[in-house]
Amino acid sequence: MTTDHGYPAVRMYIAGEWCQGGTGRTAPIVNPATEKVIGDVPLATTADLDRALDAAADGFKVWRATPVAERTRILHAAADLIRERAAEIGRVSTQEQGKPLRESTGEARRTAETLRWHADDARRAYGRIIPSPPGTVLTVRREPIGPVAAFVPWNFPVGGPNRKISSALSAGCSLVIKGSEETPATAMELVRCYADAGLPAGVLNLVFGEPAEVSEHLIKSPVIRLVAFTGSVPVGKLLAARAGEVMKPSLMELGGHAPVIVCADADPVKAARKAAQAKWANAGQVCTSPSRFLVHESIVDEFTAEFVTAAEAVTVGDGLADGTGMGPLANERRLAAMERLIADAVARGAKVLTGGERLDRPGYFFAPTVLTDVPEDARLMSEEPFGPLAPVVPFGDLDEALATANALPYGLAAYGFTDSAATAEKLSDELEAGILSLNHCGGSVHEAPSGGVKDSGYGREGGPEALDAYLITKRVSHLLAP
Ligand code: NAD
Repeated sequence: MTTDHGYPAVRMYIAGEWCQGGTGRTAPIVNPATEKVIGDVPLATTADLDRALDAAADGFKVWRATPVAERTRILHAAADLIRERAAEIGRVSTQEQGKPLRESTGEARRTAETLRWHADDARRAYGRIIPSPPGTVLTVRREPIGPVAAFVPWNFPVGGPNRKISSALSAGCSLVIKGSEETPATAMELVRCYADAGLPAGVLNLVFGEPAEVSEHLIKSPVIRLVAFTGSVPVGKLLAARAGEVMKPSLMELGGHAPVIVCADADPVKAARKAAQAKWANAGQVCTSPSRFLVHESIVDEFTAEFVTAAEAVTVGDGLADGTGMGPLANERRLAAMERLIADAVARGAKVLTGGERLDRPGYFFAPTVLTDVPEDARLMSEEPFGPLAPVVPFGDLDEALATANALPYGLAAYGFTDSAATAEKLSDELEAGILSLNHCGGSVHEAPSGGVKDSGYGREGGPEALDAYLITKRVSHLLAP
């Protein structure tokens, strides 16, 4: 069923059934490229959440007892469906989130591969046998932790939910996942792929609701054994504290404010082109988006000129239109945040070299913006912009640049550009970040872990480490002839 806007009617998925929830309470969904309401999302009642919890408890028993080979078969079937439906999933995602179709469809395709990777990796989640005296067997086993409560934001409508779902299901856990109320149909279409692939009822439950009410209820439920969250640092701290009160582990993928250090020996033009390309991806609404450009004073003019050229070459428009390079911001809150950060920086002496304003048309469009002379006390230098703002700041000494890069409480992504192997090693050693890219600004890869240090959170998604949070380690010592 679709609405007049060719947008699906959103449902929750509880105990293997698509449903609207108990009270009929809904929230509107807005297309950020048009500001038009294109549908609505049902909001769960406490009774809906309890049904989802019961289903996850039952689903866990079933899924845990399902042989790994069979689990893997179902997960690969889901990956096949995600790939087959990537164009349609991408179209829905662009309608509700705004990113260009090329990005959202690419995200759906990558998501299928991430799922395959985790599903295969779970087949190798070996324990170990420890040499022990004759007549005894000492083993270390890895078991699924149990039902998971997961909470995901709106910036990666396919990849975000799928990182939680694919790791949890591969490890043998069940889930209640709260999708974003701003991008619910994409999460629904993703979950539909798992359902259509034959996932047993109750193993994966999708709900929407008032975020604080839902998280409060799910986290304190004795059914839930792990809390997994992606989103802002303040909300992450709140949920981690709630989980701590009931002694539950949590996986926290939070924000950052990624420094890019461009050293004197780097090619400023190449560095600017690569950094600019990463900066405008998803209109800067990426937790690893490069966001503080620290450039050696000897090359800063060349770097900045090229960065401005790249910014002005971006075609900003509706993500559904051909040729769009950057879509709108996802919601009005981001637009207001851009305006606030720029006004503050300018009041403190910053210069806007290009952009600096929303576009004069309906939709939450904001021009790619490059700023210079941004003082260290401008909020833009300490607050994650989560939007298309690029402050360029010169430095003279690499140790000073490293001190600036490490001065914030965040530590998610960092980037460095240099031609020197020794300098690259210094950056690798000294940058406080969970993800470091040298001489490029590449995105995440399923084979390798992503995650933060300091206030950016703990735990890892991607790579073999992704399963760690979802598996417990059990020591079993067995005396054979008691
Ligand atoms: P927000 O802090 O209000 O919400 C972030 C996410 O957390 C949303 O998905 C929201 O639904 C959810 N959330 C909020 N309160 C919650 C609660 N009590 N329980 C459970 N979930 C809850 O911010 P926002 O306006 O949606 O986004 C703005 C900021 O969030 C950005 O500036 C950025 O720093 C951060 N953010 C980070 C990521 C990331 O991938 N790390 C993603 C989206 C947003």
